[in-house]
Amino acid sequence: MRDYDYCFLCGRNGQGDPLERHHIFGAANRDLSERYGLVVHLCGERCHRNGPKAAHRCAETMAVLHAYGQRKAMQENGWTAEQFRQVFGKNYLEDDGDDS
Ligand SMILES: [Zn+2]
Ligand SMILES: [Zn+2]
Repeated sequence: MRDYDYCFLCGRNGQGDPLERHHIFGAANRDLSERYGLVVHLCGERCHRNGPKAAHRCAETMAVLHAYGQRKAMQENGWTAEQFRQVFGKNYLEDDGDDS
């Protein structure tokens, strides 16, 4: 079982709403997300773009993903929160994750 066969947020398998790749840290950090593997798969409509809790529409969902992404990056690279901040420009574990 590959984790990308399932939506990170709701666990659905993409049937009827194909999964899409989502970069946890977008905009200026999109390339860094790609480099460090901070990418999840989400139901394209429901969880990625258009649903009320979709990653690109819901600050709360984005905050959950940012916190997850930061912990994953810190764990896999042996970084402290400060080292993460030096790479990604922000420590997402100590605020509400609001991002542009
Ligand atoms: Zn996305
Ligand atoms: Zn989903």
